[in-house]
Amino acid sequence: MQPNLAERLQAIHQRIDEAAKANGRQSSEIELVVVTKNHGFELALELLELGESKFGENRDQEASAKAAQVAQGLSAGQHPPTWHFVGQLQSNKVKSMLGYSSVLHSLDRLSLLKELEKQLLKTPESTLDVFIELNLTDDPNRGGIEPKNLIEFAQQVLTVSQIRLLGVMGVAGLGLEPAADFATILKASEQLGTISESSKYISAGMSGDFETAIGFGATHLRIGTAITGNR
Ligand SMILES: *Cc1c(COP(=O)(O)O)cnc(C)c1O
Repeated sequence: MQPNLAERLQAIHQRIDEAAKANGRQSSEIELVVVTKNHGFELALELLELGESKFGENRDQEASAKAAQVAQGLSAGQHPPTWHFVGQLQSNKVKSMLGYSSVLHSLDRLSLLKELEKQLLKTPESTLDVFIELNLTDDPNRGGIEPKNLIEFAQQVLTVSQIRLLGVMGVAGLGLEPAADFATILKASEQLGTISESSKYISAGMSGDFETAIGFGATHLRIGTAITGNR
């Protein structure tokens, strides 16, 4: 029999625990963001029942509808999940994203920062947690901030009082071995730590490489298909 959702989830938690242990880390310092993209809101409700509370999405249209459906489907007293936006975000979707999302993993360009600042100013009491996405390829036209430009960009992010800079994010293995990319991410994270002590978190690791990412300090894993199944 195929494992069901609860079994797949449990297996991933066990692998996270084992990888943490193997690397001398505590699994309590590693957050699991279950990427629920391409699945209906029912799956998110099931995951909530199973104790998960952080869900990742990469398309605004799908995410905004799903977040609303999940909010509707909560049982009495049940806490809503937090929604993490992990995909490339068009500037004209910023306003919508801020409506349901509390963490953005993919701040990848200055124009997006400007739009975030502008929209956040409309609700001065609101804040957004943000990771800066690194470009780990040799192609400067790909999304993300090149590691050599990270500090300069981070300094601009840190001037926006409604944004809390959590750290750096990367999608590994597009070109090289994932381990080389995770090493680059870790080095960038250490550099960022020298200008902002609180920006020490690392969003890295997906279904195929999260154990390696844990070895390179990942604190926020973004895992989809290994838990949710293919769709
Ligand atoms: C889809 C996606 C993931 C999850 O990928 P899986 O391989 O399904 O675990 C993680 N991060 C980003 C940015 C994604 O778009």
